[in-house]
Amino acid sequence: MRFETRAVHAGGKPDPATGAVAPPIHLATTFEHGPAAETPLGYMYIRDGNPTQARLEEALAAVEGGETALVFASGMAAAAAYLQALPSGSHVVYPSDVYYGVRALAQEFLPRWGTEATAVDTTDLAAVRAALRPNTRVVWAETPSNPLMQVSDLAALAKLAHEAGAALAVDGTFATPAIQRPLELGADVVHHSTTKYLGGHSDVQGGALVFAKKGEAAERTTHVRKIGGGVGSPFNSWLVLRGLRTLACRVERASSNAVAIARFLAGHAGVEAVHYPGLPSHPGHEVARRQMSAFGGMLSFRVRGGRDAALRTTSRLKVFVNATSLGGTESLIEHRASSEGPGSPTPQNLLRVSVGLEHPDDLIEDLAQALG
Ligand SMILES: *Cc1c(COP(=O)(O)O)cnc(C)c1O
Repeated sequence: MRFETRAVHAGGKPDPATGAVAPPIHLATTFEHGPAAETPLGYMYIRDGNPTQARLEEALAAVEGGETALVFASGMAAAAAYLQALPSGSHVVYPSDVYYGVRALAQEFLPRWGTEATAVDTTDLAAVRAALRPNTRVVWAETPSNPLMQVSDLAALAKLAHEAGAALAVDGTFATPAIQRPLELGADVVHHSTTKYLGGHSDVQGGALVFAKKGEAAERTTHVRKIGGGVGSPFNSWLVLRGLRTLACRVERASSNAVAIARFLAGHAGVEAVHYPGLPSHPGHEVARRQMSAFGGMLSFRVRGGRDAALRTTSRLKVFVNATSLGGTESLIEHRASSEGPGSPTPQNLLRVSVGLEHPDDLIEDLAQALG
């Protein structure tokens, strides 16, 4: 079955107790068990697993083409649990352009957990190969990346990682499974902040990992989640499952709007550079065409005139909301270096845009008046 159909039906069996077509939200924290803690229905305590979270896990595994999925309280809880599950003495390769929270995990937390981490440009396969070591367990990729929208070749990275005995883990938050499915390209794990497109309405926090195979990595990560406690709540799992139902339509519209905006920005004298993989001038365009079925709703651009000109632009916008995060119905814009805070490597004239579902002409007119 095709993605659109799976996204509508996965994890959507009518409730066996009532026939309800919309899934129930089970808020129970504890489930009746036998005298020696036997669990005939599979549930015991909410932190181990609960029926609403299990529905979402079943759905995410189905849409990504994985054998098993784990849902978390946030994208960062998911990433942290996966990396914390590595045996100490491991080594991780991660991208130099990456979500700032993952960079903080790699730089501050992994060394404390006994894991070394090396930042490389994952669009440069020779650089990745040179960074691999005998104890490399994971190559972490993020494509398209935040906030420079770099595109890494997932099939090539999977081959490199596997030759070195490492797993390829991919943060696919910006693309979503609607337009990029890393497991089909050879990745071992796909990571999502479901706070973004999967939730889709800027009103729920969550994260997920989908594993190509059941096995040691999934089991170790399940144990970290159970003991560490970063599980998803039933209500949030329900909202993300609801978001998944419309994901294909939303990403299609956001992508077509983003193409129109990227073209407009690329032709504007006040714009120094546009980072969008859908533009033929983007260095990752050919790879993106191969591994994505559309180019997504995220883009960034650099305003001519530096930081002040960039800030002036965002403050003049009327339709775009100045806010961080992404993947909601409304278009958002932010001065990314300010959001990332002191020490951010992001260029000072860069604005990051999450293109929403408004009419593209209203968005372009808004940008035109703001750029002047
Ligand atoms: C938001 C985001 C995360 C972190 O997810 P949270 O749900 O905010 O914890 C990780 N990676 C990417 C690409 C993101 O956009």
